[in-house]
Amino acid sequence: MDDCIFCKIIRKEIPKEFSFESDTLVAFPDINPSADIHILIVPREHIGGIADLNESHGKLLTEIYKAVNQLVKSNNLQDDLYRVVVNGGKAQHVPHLHFHLLGGQWKKMV
Ligand code: 5GP
Ligand code: ZN
Repeated sequence: MDDCIFCKIIRKEIPKEFSFESDTLVAFPDINPSADIHILIVPREHIGGIADLNESHGKLLTEIYKAVNQLVKSNNLQDDLYRVVVNGGKAQHVPHLHFHLLGGQWKKMV
């Protein structure tokens, strides 16, 4: 999608260091963190949101949770507190599916 901010980040049109990267996913820190650690896990494919998921995305969803587990370990969150949040509807501001990994002290709602 030409004007999608996350597609631009994925295409590296906006410089950003990825915390995790694979053929299907990227992860990078949220620009406006809601917790001590706030990482966005984003499929390279432009999927609008939860409502656009179907059976064909089963493997991708497994990969997302594998990436979450890697990021939990690399940020030493396994014995701390962490949450994975996916916003939808009016709670979702960027219309490209993404998973928030929130770790440590919360500052505000995502
Ligand atoms: P949503 O409300 O859609 O679930 O979350 C969108 C998230 O993307 C917000 O937490 C917001 O801070 C983050 N965000 C929006 N634009 C950018 C950006 O250009 N770079 C990064 N790293 N995060 C962004
Ligand atoms: Zn996009």
